[in-house]
Amino acid sequence: MYAKVIVDVPAKQTNRAFDYEVPASLTKWVEVGSRVGVPFGPRVLQGFVVELHADTQVDVKRIKPIMNVLDLVPPLTEELVMLGRWVSRMYLCHEVTALQAMLPAALKAKYERMIGVGEESGEQALLEMSDLQEIVRFVKSKGSVSMDALMERFASEGALIKQLLSTGILTEEQKVKDRMNTKKALTVFPPAGGLGLEEALLELPARANKQKDVLRYLMEHPHAIRLTALMETIEVGASTVKSLADRGWIELREVEVMRDPYAGRAFARTKPLPLTEEQTGVFTEIRDAVADQRNEVFLLHGVTGSGKTEVYLQSIQQCLDMGKEAIVLVPEISLTPQMVERFKGRFGDLVAVLHSRLSNGERYDEWRKITRKQVKVVIGARSAIFAPFTQIGLIIIDEEHESSYKQEESPKYHTRDVAVQRAKQQNAVVVLGSATPSLESIELTRRRRDREKPPFRLLTMRERVASRPMPPVAIVDMREELKNGNRSMFSRSLYKAIEDRLQKKEQIVLLLNRRGYATFVMCRTCGFVSTCPHCDISLTYHQSSRMLRCHYCGYAEREVTQCPSCQSEHIRHFGTGTQRVEEELSKIFPGIRVIRMDVDTTTEKGSHEKWLTMFREKQADVLLGTQMVAKGLDFPDVTLVGVIAADTVLNIPDFRSAERTFQLLTQVAGRAGRHEKQGEVFVQTYTPEHYSVQYASQHDYIAFANHELDIRANLGYPPYQRLILVTFSHESVPLLVRSAEAFVTRLKEIALEYSTKQMDLFANVVSMDSSFHMDVLGPVASPISRIKDRYRFQCVVKYRGEDQAADIVGRTVAWFEERSAKEKLQISVDVDPQYLM
Ligand code: ADP
Ligand code: ZN
Ligand code: ZN
Repeated sequence: MYAKVIVDVPAKQTNRAFDYEVPASLTKWVEVGSRVGVPFGPRVLQGFVVELHADTQVDVKRIKPIMNVLDLVPPLTEELVMLGRWVSRMYLCHEVTALQAMLPAALKAKYERMIGVGEESGEQALLEMSDLQEIVRFVKSKGSVSMDALMERFASEGALIKQLLSTGILTEEQKVKDRMNTKKALTVFPPAGGLGLEEALLELPARANKQKDVLRYLMEHPHAIRLTALMETIEVGASTVKSLADRGWIELREVEVMRDPYAGRAFARTKPLPLTEEQTGVFTEIRDAVADQRNEVFLLHGVTGSGKTEVYLQSIQQCLDMGKEAIVLVPEISLTPQMVERFKGRFGDLVAVLHSRLSNGERYDEWRKITRKQVKVVIGARSAIFAPFTQIGLIIIDEEHESSYKQEESPKYHTRDVAVQRAKQQNAVVVLGSATPSLESIELTRRRRDREKPPFRLLTMRERVASRPMPPVAIVDMREELKNGNRSMFSRSLYKAIEDRLQKKEQIVLLLNRRGYATFVMCRTCGFVSTCPHCDISLTYHQSSRMLRCHYCGYAEREVTQCPSCQSEHIRHFGTGTQRVEEELSKIFPGIRVIRMDVDTTTEKGSHEKWLTMFREKQADVLLGTQMVAKGLDFPDVTLVGVIAADTVLNIPDFRSAERTFQLLTQVAGRAGRHEKQGEVFVQTYTPEHYSVQYASQHDYIAFANHELDIRANLGYPPYQRLILVTFSHESVPLLVRSAEAFVTRLKEIALEYSTKQMDLFANVVSMDSSFHMDVLGPVASPISRIKDRYRFQCVVKYRGEDQAADIVGRTVAWFEERSAKEKLQISVDVDPQYLM
């Protein structure tokens, strides 16, 4: 047998599969998706098996054998390997980079696998197999054995051992060289069937009551039980149990336990709610598609508070009823305990949770619950789309418009597109939910080509549950405030509203859609701005340390009191950071209790949750924060929402600024009045006439989308044309400019070859989609023109039509990398970029 292996060296020369022989000793272990060690030149590399064949095209004499297998059970499935190939083509990254992105970080660390005996007794049928007993006895006799030793001893028992692992009779532990470790707990094992306990009971002296309690308990419950649980249940001490073990009547040993980040938290079970009419309509469509296993993509446009989550939950139930699995993706920031609770409350232990605030160990354990099929539902951020399920029936992406679904490092994939592709591979249904769908998605519900159905189907929920009204949104013109002599950051109407809520003891959410750290230092006399000497961006002022810090490279300096340029003393931090709003609030409303949530207050693990819990428990009047307070939160007593300055996002030079402003205003307004109490929203702005502000205040998504789509069509921006951003960086500007220009020239040449080929090929086809069209903008200096002393140039490829563009850019990049290898030029490619920085 021969394997095609992708080695773990992300470089152009190695970005293809190499053939290796599978030695006879490993044939039972190697599968597509296995990680293996292979000789590569003078080195041994790690790699992924992507194909298996009975023969090979390569000269057999030159083929080397696979040296070892890294995991007993392959960490990837065949389907994920296929998805990895798609990701690498689509986003122009190395295939191995795509495959690595699918694994939990813990698997990438250097470690040694050890196999031990687990606490599951296993199915009876399995246990009766003598081969199995031999394996278990072998492992037991050693305490634990290394994976290699086990494979060597039972080379032909691959299938059986994998089965033992998946049922938990054997467990994998890892001795990691860095601190990751599995967690262990002392566990009590009664002899099989409770044999011998009765005799033991008779042998014990009359006074050994405690020991007798233990034996009696174990006779009634002849299963393994954690020592601590036993001690608690029958109130005995550890020494009592231990003395029984010493006499050989019971067994006491350490077994691995899964770390559960939600351990000890009880989730009250919830029952399906009777759906509203609108929910029923939407649910019926999704349910039928799931039941028919139709590969269909729904875009669920439901206003804030329309009850999308309940629709998700009942759709998942349908999926589980069919014996299928479901993936639920939510933006990292809204993956709050409240969110998790909704899913765990309905599906209990069938739910695994994956997000970046878990430790590597916790995440690894959650991931293994998936591979062991202990769970059927995964809820997680971005990378949970790669959950190693094999029977996916439904993929849900909540808040599908969120730009955080685009990964910013390689592989720069968009989760939504990966989800659609994965659903295609597994014949699953996709539901994209949002109150403000992305323009890309809404356009796909309208697109018609050759009288085919549009790729996405639109489902709509226009009303809030229980006919709760949408909160009225007042736009406050801050220019007027200034004219009337109000120089404070609070308009008079917002001031009055805050005062009113404080009196009524209701709660307030205040949004500053500028991150707390975006405060920069400027001289009011000459306009000098403190910038990083290594990167071309302004330094950020940090109040607590009185330091200026660069957000790209970490450079820091003391706060200045005199302008380095004109010596004026009128130099100070500028811009309304969240800290300043907090100060001002306590100044004008003495005694006001404010919780501030921004990057500075949420770095610590669990802090995010801590603040939200405090707010929920009404330990504060105001929740003040950045974007993170706008998303998905649901607090019954919030009746006032204030946006301090709507313009800060609007003024970012990016074609998506209007869309982001609309989304943010709609989301934050949606936090008010979600329950019995009526809510109210104030949006302060210097550009009240802007259509994104106007439509948001009218809660009119469709009008906004139509308006914005017109603009995008006229300017040739997404969703009508797609973009690929290519960024170059180097320490020398002349070399950079020359290289970037050479790149663009070559790119155009290659594009030309494609267009003639296309025409030759299809010259006689009348209804051909001849719309492939490509423009190259630049090269120009990037908006952030220097990072860490490297200058940056970029060009933007703008195209219409299908996938050729990625191919063309990919070929050009390959040509470029070869040519500029020794000059240390860096090139990075971002397909469908979310930001053009
Ligand atoms: P969305 O995600 O669409 O903004 P949610 O799913 O958070 O809205 O639902 C808003 C509120 O309505 C929640 O408190 C939820 O429990 C409640 N809700 C949803 N569906 C129903 C229903 N069918 N009957 C009663 N209450 C519901
Ligand atoms: Zn100055
Ligand atoms: Zn810097």
